[in-house]
Amino acid sequence: MQKKRISGIYAEIPALLLPWFAENQRDLPWRRDREPYHVWLSEIMLQQTRVEAVKPYYVRFLEALPDIAALSECPHDTLMKLWEGLGYYSRARNLQKAAQQIVAEYSGEFPRSYAEIRSLAGIGDYTAGAIASICFDLPEPAVDGNVLRVWTRLFCDSRCTDDAAVKRSIRENMREIYTKYADGKCGQLTQAFMELGATVCVPNGAPHCELCPLRALCEAHKSDSVSIFPVRKVKKARRIEEYTVYILQCGERIAVQKRPKTGLLAGLWELPHLDGKRDAQAAVSDIAAWETGAAELISMRNCVHIFTHIEWHMTAVHLLVTKKPARFTWVTPEQLAAETALPTAFRICLPKE
Ligand code: SF4
Repeated sequence: MQKKRISGIYAEIPALLLPWFAENQRDLPWRRDREPYHVWLSEIMLQQTRVEAVKPYYVRFLEALPDIAALSECPHDTLMKLWEGLGYYSRARNLQKAAQQIVAEYSGEFPRSYAEIRSLAGIGDYTAGAIASICFDLPEPAVDGNVLRVWTRLFCDSRCTDDAAVKRSIRENMREIYTKYADGKCGQLTQAFMELGATVCVPNGAPHCELCPLRALCEAHKSDSVSIFPVRKVKKARRIEEYTVYILQCGERIAVQKRPKTGLLAGLWELPHLDGKRDAQAAVSDIAAWETGAAELISMRNCVHIFTHIEWHMTAVHLLVTKKPARFTWVTPEQLAAETALPTAFRICLPKE
């Protein structure tokens, strides 16, 4: 496409997109103000997680930790409990690291330049762009999967969007719109691009082009080639791991233990488990070394939990046992509900109420 024509399109995008956003934006809890702590927290929670799933976590997190100082001082177990079920727990650990950086280096005030924001733990180009534009109206685009989808469809851009150089190039092109045509409304423009990708120019199935404010500009729509974009790398199949997971119940208490400090689900609680699937007989006999005494089998069922690159196929074995060896921590149902950060992968193995 000729440069002059592209510039014309760039000029039209905010003119069409901003009024549409003003009319159609969803009422989301993190859109009620532009407080950097709120925008930052929501952007981190929304990585890899659906909006509806994030809403109650966001509200609960801010009730418990209303500002950056509170987050910086929060005990690890409390932080993990607040994040329990959201997954990708390194996000919470990085949030706290960044909060501690902000307290130590910026006297607790959220930094205001893109470079400073980008230097905080757990903040990459996308999140830095989102905070810089939404909170401070800086001309810094936030390019995530939603935005890449809109952009590659708009321009029939067939480069692979998994390529970091392609993302950088699209970001640079978008910056031209922010600096020349956004009329200072950079935060609105960022949110409008995100909203269009999330609600209209959707993935997996046909986008709602009939509702799109940009359809008159959109090359993919005009050439009936929407389904080709964005071009992605073919994903590798997930690795499957099999486990036998134990719900060891003694009286009303059940056994949990801490996971190692590094690796998947680091530092969280887990149910005791062994590698591989077992039948009922082996499930009971293979835990003799745990010294939990006589075991009565209550139930067995299969559970699956999917991580990004791994699938856990688990046999959940509920046993009533007679001893509580000190190798495990024995928690009450109340402690399990209120204090123990047990990731979803294990929580789905617990007996149904
Ligand atoms: S016209 Fe359709 S494909 Fe093009 S940006 Fe809009 S929703 Fe996406």
